[in-house]
This record gives sequence, C-alpha cells and structure tokens, in this order.
Amino acid sequence: MNTSSTASQCPCCMTAAVLLPSPAYTRCRCCGHRWRLPTEGLGYYETLVARNDLNTPWFKRKMRERVVAVSGLLETGSERVLEIGCAEGELGREIKARCAVTYDGVELSQDRLLAAQQLDTVFSTPASQVQAAPYDLIVSFHVLEHILRPEQEVAAWARLLSGQGRVLVEVPNQAGHPLLASDCNPEHLHQFTPASLALLLARCGFACQALSAGHYESPVYSDSLRLVAHLEPAADQRQQLLLQRFEQRTGGPFLVYGIGGDYLNYIAPLAESLHIRALLDSSAAKWGQRFGKHVVTGYDPQQHANLPVVICSIRFATDIRQHLLSVGIAAQRIIGLDSIYEDA
Ligand SMILES: [Zn+2]
Repeated sequence: MNTSSTASQCPCCMTAAVLLPSPAYTRCRCCGHRWRLPTEGLGYYETLVARNDLNTPWFKRKMRERVVAVSGLLETGSERVLEIGCAEGELGREIKARCAVTYDGVELSQDRLLAAQQLDTVFSTPASQVQAAPYDLIVSFHVLEHILRPEQEVAAWARLLSGQGRVLVEVPNQAGHPLLASDCNPEHLHQFTPASLALLLARCGFACQALSAGHYESPVYSDSLRLVAHLEPAADQRQQLLLQRFEQRTGGPFLVYGIGGDYLNYIAPLAESLHIRALLDSSAAKWGQRFGKHVVTGYDPQQHANLPVVICSIRFATDIRQHLLSVGIAAQRIIGLDSIYEDA
C-alpha cells in the first residue's frame, strides 16, 4: 500500500494541486481537509504530564460516552484492545472493570506511568513501532489530529489489527465546535471533515462501518467525528466468507426453491462452489429452464426427501415458506436466504 504524499497533496484524499490558502491552514478543495506544519519541536509530547483532570464534569461526561461506545464494539468480552493515546488509562480502567479484555495502550507523554498501573501493557513508542499484533479493536480519541503524517499512523493501525478487527477513531469535526470558524489550537495539525476522515481510512485499506458527528470531547470540542471501520476484505475473501455462511446454515447439499431474480443475483454467481442438488419452483412455466448444470423442476417428495431447502426469494419468502409447509416439508428443513446474509 502506498501511503506516501507530498506537501502539495492532501494527506487524506491525495488530490494534487488543489491548495487554497486560509489562515494558518492549507485546505483541500476536494475533501475539505485542512492541515498545517507543527510549531512544536520533536519530543514535545514526551514532556507533558497530567493533561486530564478526572474530576471535572466534562471529563466524566466524555468518559461515560466513550465507555458505551467501546463496550458496544466488544462482542466476546475477551478481545485484545489497543488504545492509541491512552493518557492516564482511565478509559481502559473502565473497560477492564466491565470486560475480561486485554487492554494495551500507546502513550508518549509522562501519563504513561499512571496508565501502566491500570492497563496490561503501555507502549511509549508510536504505533508504528509496536510489535504486539494482532488486536481485535484499536481505539483512538482525539489523537490523529495531532499527528503530522496521519496516513502513516492509520497504516500502522491496519498492520496491528486482526483480519476481523475494527478501529474506532474520533477527532474534532473541523474546528470542533459549531461556533468556531477555525481551530486555533497549535497542537492540532489537522482539521478533518467527514469526507477527509473516511477517505483517509479508505486509503489505508479500511471500509467505513459507521460515521457520526456531534460527539463530546469538552466544552470547546463539543462536535467530534467518530468513525468505526474494519479492514476491507479482498473480493475472494468475501466470497469465502459467504460460502462458509451457506455451509453453516445448510450443512451440506441443499435444494434451492424459487428461481427468479434473487436466484440470479445472490446464488447463481456462487452456484459452481455451492452444494446445490436441484433447482425447484412451483411454477410449471419455469420447469425445463437450464441454469448451469441444473434444470428447474418441481418438488418431488421421493427424490428430494430430507434435504434442506433454501428459499431463494426475499420478497416472497413468507408465501414460499407457507407453500413448502403445505406440501409436507418440515419447518426445520426450510432456510430463508435472509438468514444466510443477515448479521454476517
Ligand atoms: Zn483532500
């Protein structure tokens, strides 16, 4: 993956030669992203300490919201989580109190000493130097806007994730407050838009799962973007996952019932790789039509006994199910196409 860019390219969408000068920032006129060079020297973050006051109402408010967001992404409760910019480890402490996860952090500031008392492992190096893959979930709240080369950072996250892993990243929505025309915080090198954040993640191999705005960081940064994404699987990986779904639901050879548009769209492209025993339809007008090695016929209780039946219609599934029950097919043999695709 090529994530390099030059000063004349937007770091998120890589659009070239679209620079518009605006106060302090350079702005991409394609995705709206704004960025600037750092004024702080190298090693700035390593010197900082105690940046959060855990007792303020606004800190507690954002922490409550983040605990809900992160907990909602933990499916088994035993995942490996990495928080980029874990500060003093308060979010990880809250999550570990609720779930049996392994929770590691990356923290460059001196707050890592406090975090080390709360989390499993705290790395004092950038994510690009962490060697503890794979993680099931990487979370990062209000960190990416501080990093000069966000594309390199997000590419590092992609390398640290498992194949099924996800990221949750939150940054200020442009200036971070509806009343601020521009973000004057000198630490913030990037002002993201929904488009630029999604494009940056896509550029690094991620597929967006959810993108929302209006999340609370503090009174000044009350409008934050939050994006949840997973690694984009290759086309052949997607097909393998779908074939596994058919195998799990049917358990082996099966009949396909209802040969129409949904068959052509959702089953025919996979037919060579599926254990289809016969194509069936109640309409005699369809009998005799050939699809690949199969010819459509009616249901034959002798020939087709005991095999599972996949209803190949989303729209007419209820009617077809009733018909199959009426001709004596047991309910446990009947499988809806929806149940194969849903919640995958
Ligand atoms: Zn751009």
